[in-house]
Amino acid sequence: MAMDSFELGPIRPPSEAYSLLLRVTRNCPWNRCKFCHVYKGKKFELRPVEEVKQDILAVKAIQDRLKETSWKSGYGGSVEAVAAAILNNPQNEASFNVALWLYHGGTSAFLQDANTLIMKTDELVEVLKFLKQTLPTITRVTSYGRSKTAAKKKVEELVQLREAGLSRLHIGLESGYDPVLKYMDKGVTAAEHIKGGKNIMAAGISLCEYVLLGLGGKKMWREHATETARVLNEINPDFIRLRTLTIKAGMPLYEEVKNGNFIRQTDEEIIEGEKLLIENLNCQSNLISDHITNLLQEIEGKLPEDKDRMLDTIAKFQALSPAEKQNFKLGRRLGVYEGLDDLGSPPKHDSVEQARQRLSGDGKQVDEETIYSLMERFI
Ligand code: SF4
Repeated sequence: MAMDSFELGPIRPPSEAYSLLLRVTRNCPWNRCKFCHVYKGKKFELRPVEEVKQDILAVKAIQDRLKETSWKSGYGGSVEAVAAAILNNPQNEASFNVALWLYHGGTSAFLQDANTLIMKTDELVEVLKFLKQTLPTITRVTSYGRSKTAAKKKVEELVQLREAGLSRLHIGLESGYDPVLKYMDKGVTAAEHIKGGKNIMAAGISLCEYVLLGLGGKKMWREHATETARVLNEINPDFIRLRTLTIKAGMPLYEEVKNGNFIRQTDEEIIEGEKLLIENLNCQSNLISDHITNLLQEIEGKLPEDKDRMLDTIAKFQALSPAEKQNFKLGRRLGVYEGLDDLGSPPKHDSVEQARQRLSGDGKQVDEETIYSLMERFI
């Protein structure tokens, strides 16, 4: 590949928006989860270490050119100003990513795609060391991994990865309830989630577990909440991040909904499940809801001390009148509201109310299907 570009994968966690993206494997080696469409139809591939090293050198070449331009334009080698100019007019996606990363300090990197841990430990160690040697401003390297793979790795191997520079792993826990995991074809059991999570924590790698609210559907929502809390309590990860199930064409779950095998919960029911989950958590994790699919994005804090405040937010939503609940749901799904406090903003409230009248047809209620279809735009 030319030295002005390198390969990029399709996704990264929201918290890695300003990280350098490096694709060390392609796609997902499992690729069967019913609720996931990201890599469907695409084949998993390990990338040769030499190829990844070439990509890292391409990043360095782009960075060096930015520095040169900075000197020539009188910015004294500081890359921020030049990076800002490139952000407005990037040559390609790769140079945009490098500019964004440098503009935000150039300290974090995220290794793509779905399960970097599947690489041989010594190969991943080699990549991490080369990355940190070549781009020494990087102090934080994070990646996605599967619990099943983390459960199979020895803690000593994970320690080697940490020592080589791997700072954090993002793991899709989704649920801690075995029947949900099995039905969704997650390819992992609650026990493996616990083993994988504990291995990562024991190795001193920061751990972020993602939970998918609504994944139990109408049939298994209670157990989804209580068993997920049980598994998280055992792992005690540094971070728990919530997302809400969103279903669209291309996911196997889409067909399950159409044929009636999976019955989706309404927003109110999902919130009831979220309440049960939080009530049952007794770990010391940071809980974060920083995803646009979550109805109550403001639920956030350190457990256990902020638990009551989180439950108060849920109680505040549950105490709204049916009309205000509907207005809030719609406002969130239209991207107008960020949190419950926005209900007190007359301009926002009015614009949502007007949208409600347009979308409801009969002028009363907007049906759940319309709300689901609005959510689909977010993923
Ligand atoms: S393991 Fe992750 S990326 Fe792979 S199919 Fe499941 S949810 Fe999607």
